[in-house]
Amino acid sequence: MIPLSQPSITHQERNAVNQALNTGWISGTGPYVRDFETALKVQLGRDHALAVTNGTVALELVLRALGIGVGDEVIVPALTFAAPAAAVRAVGATPVLVDIDPFTWTIDPLDIPEASTYFTRAVIAVDLLGHPADFAWLDTVQDLSKRRNITIIEDAAQAHGAIYNRIGEEKAGALAYVSTFSFHANKAISTGEGGAVLTNDVDLAEKLRLIANHGMTSEKPYWHEIAGTNYRMTSLTAALGTAQVKRWDELTAARRDVAAAYDERLSPLFDSEVLYRRPVAQWAKESCWLYTVGSPYRQQLVEGLRAKGIDARAIWYALPDLPPYKQDGYFPTARKVSQEAFWLPTWSGMPIETIDYICEVIHDIPISTRVPS
Ligand SMILES: *Cc1c(COP(=O)(O)O)cnc(C)c1O
Repeated sequence: MIPLSQPSITHQERNAVNQALNTGWISGTGPYVRDFETALKVQLGRDHALAVTNGTVALELVLRALGIGVGDEVIVPALTFAAPAAAVRAVGATPVLVDIDPFTWTIDPLDIPEASTYFTRAVIAVDLLGHPADFAWLDTVQDLSKRRNITIIEDAAQAHGAIYNRIGEEKAGALAYVSTFSFHANKAISTGEGGAVLTNDVDLAEKLRLIANHGMTSEKPYWHEIAGTNYRMTSLTAALGTAQVKRWDELTAARRDVAAAYDERLSPLFDSEVLYRRPVAQWAKESCWLYTVGSPYRQQLVEGLRAKGIDARAIWYALPDLPPYKQDGYFPTARKVSQEAFWLPTWSGMPIETIDYICEVIHDIPISTRVPS
């Protein structure tokens, strides 16, 4: 099977992990974690970075640090990998779903005023499939809602290397007051499991560190300021992460090359009724997390690809249709994308012959236009 994705591990990553092992630094404290946090700060141009165990916990930690919990509501897009909604639940708050915008497939800022209530405390804007959310609009919404003190949180888990270009180029991961990343094995920068939180607010950064580190401050050993927890990333993971961040530009550019190759080969089909590409706004430069297309005939295409040993996959279910997040409402774009979009194999350094093969298979699949699905 041609896999959906695979990490890019070189001798640099191997050497970095071995070095950490050899020095005995294996826990969540010490120079390897600090180096990884510094590498992230520098890469993204932010003042503070905190490495944590994964991207879901990164979101949970942010919500806790903002004091969000029982009785509060957090607005989440109706189409995303479910982690943001799960993180809201994990702190005892309620996720309130809002449709995605048809032109960006990210949370629709215009729907936020109607979805906000007296209890709304935050919006988790996901840079979906590597496309930055519409942060200019989100800021406007936030200004309109100042009274309620709504915080915009950026979930950049899928957007390593994406660019938001409205008032100059800005990097995903630096587009909101606080941003999170995942470094799961299928993400563009990967540590296997891993996550991070980035912000420029020193007070928030200290709060995040306090919670993630058992509620202990560095000044007074074993003095627990609050009942914290342990969300620390291990040194082995951090060593791997530093080696990956050094290759940030190479790894993200390689994914863009994969997207360009797919675009070139599939664009003849984009003019037909059979296939369309994931849209990209003029102000956005997407990072190609997983190359995403849509079709009213998705089932036939995905089955045809899988029959040829290609791990193409249908995108997530819309959150309002899943048991834990059920919500009444129309969500037309989230549901349409959920029913039609699918992923083609994507990874950094994917051979061009593999892309050729996948595209030939797509071109050769006989589509019965009388059986949409
Ligand atoms: C992968 C992902 C996460 C969660 O990351 P993990 O590290 O797997 O916990 C969160 N949000 C989005 C949008 C993701 O794609």
